Amino acid sequence: METAEIARRFLAFFENNGHTVVPSASLVSEDPTLLLVNAGMVPFKPYFLGQRTPPYARAASAQKCVRTIDIDEVGKTSRHASFFQMLGNFSFGDYFKAEVIPFAWKLLTDSAEDGGFGLDPERLWVTVFFDDDEAESIWRDKVGVPSERIQRRGMEDNFWSMGVPGPCGPCSEIYYDRGPEYGVEGGPVADENRYLEVWNLVFMQYERGPGSGKTDFEILGDLPKKNIDTGMGLERMAAILQGVDNIYETDTLGTILRHAAELSGTEYGANEKVDVGLRVVADHVRTATMLVADGVTPGNEKRGYVLRRILRRSIRNMRLLSGTAEDRHFMHDLTATAIRVMGDLYPELRGNAETIHSVIDAEEKNFSDTLRSGTTLFNRAAERTKAGGHTQFSGADAFQLHDTYGFPIDLTLEMAAEQGLSVDEDTFRSLMQEQRDTAKRDAKAKKLGNADISVYARLLDGSGTTDFLGYTDHESEARVL
Ligand code: ATP
Ligand code: MG
Ligand code: MG
Ligand code: MG
Repeated sequence: METAEIARRFLAFFENNGHTVVPSASLVSEDPTLLLVNAGMVPFKPYFLGQRTPPYARAASAQKCVRTIDIDEVGKTSRHASFFQMLGNFSFGDYFKAEVIPFAWKLLTDSAEDGGFGLDPERLWVTVFFDDDEAESIWRDKVGVPSERIQRRGMEDNFWSMGVPGPCGPCSEIYYDRGPEYGVEGGPVADENRYLEVWNLVFMQYERGPGSGKTDFEILGDLPKKNIDTGMGLERMAAILQGVDNIYETDTLGTILRHAAELSGTEYGANEKVDVGLRVVADHVRTATMLVADGVTPGNEKRGYVLRRILRRSIRNMRLLSGTAEDRHFMHDLTATAIRVMGDLYPELRGNAETIHSVIDAEEKNFSDTLRSGTTLFNRAAERTKAGGHTQFSGADAFQLHDTYGFPIDLTLEMAAEQGLSVDEDTFRSLMQEQRDTAKRDAKAKKLGNADISVYARLLDGSGTTDFLGYTDHESEARVL
């Protein structure tokens, strides 16, 4: 079953069950606490919180999502993409656990002729929050899932929140057993590679306050109503229904992957390192295409930095794969393929093709110039490090690469790791800080014109500098949503 058909089927099922189909919102989040939309519920957050009245009690959508937190998993696990699509059904104070669980079961197990996905019920496992007897009994008694295939899990896995203040609640996840060739038995608790999480049903009933991480936060209280929020990974469902090993081999991502193999002169499936590289390229080219289509442009902060990092990573991977040191440009062709395969679900991509290409091509040229000028210095410094019997690339060299050649630290870290070297990041950061402090002093001096400014400099020194979090801040923002 093609990806576009899976999405169509999901939406049709819920439309037939009284849901209003709502188009995907832009990846650029309207919610100021998030850079990019990372789940299907994000556009509906004000409805859950009771801040706005929804125009419908039930909705369904196929929402574009980007999770920067998953970037480092891409290519290595079978199931994480940086951009993916979340199919979801939502109830705003309408139905709750007793209705959503049978809905999900029916759609997953009804035959294809009956409008379902035709999954073998014997292969489905579910998890519930550790004290959620109600959800467990619905699965067992109403739906008929045997107790052996229902597992209980704690906060980390079965309590969902956006990662920022907002609605939250216990959840129940549905997993598909891919079989013994994918790992050990024992259900999702034992092996999340063999048992692939496909759908999460969230019982949105509480509001979370600030606090960090997945588990370390305070529950402020009940939401005005009990709601339902679900998320099914479209790419994961496609991998199952298309009988392939991972999401990168499905009809959409697989087409970009094969094109990347062809352009780089590599073969997919012969060598794990090459395979990871090709999966990263396929994923990142698609993510970049979708971000640019939603108006993001490469930059040094926030969303622009996420895009820049993703694009640069795909460009470098293509160079490494093809073993070409020369200025060969691959992005135009790969982007064209991404636009073509995603165009079925997002026809607007075709109309915007020219703009998308111009943004991505310009970034590739820009990055090629950076690489051309900085690589010689990098190689010389790496050689020197190794010749001296060291394993750490110096912070001063990393700083010079950044300062003179515009090498982001991520790039230096990545290139150093390829040579088996770590980087002295502490020294790098203190040199960055020194430079910022100087720049700040200079800027103040400039503002004051030609007057004798030494008094102000002394004053500033005496009072200490303000914390300047520019670099580390957008670094961490880019990594963690
Ligand atoms: P995992 O545990 O596999 O990282 P998750 O529990 O973080 O997934 P949820 O937040 O529950 O994921 O999101 C709902 C659904 O979206 C998941 O059940 C999965 O099918 C899909 N999904 C989540 N993250 C990704 C991703 N990075 N790439 C593709 N699909 C994803
Ligand atoms: Mg996850
Ligand atoms: Mg999970
Ligand atoms: Mg989940």
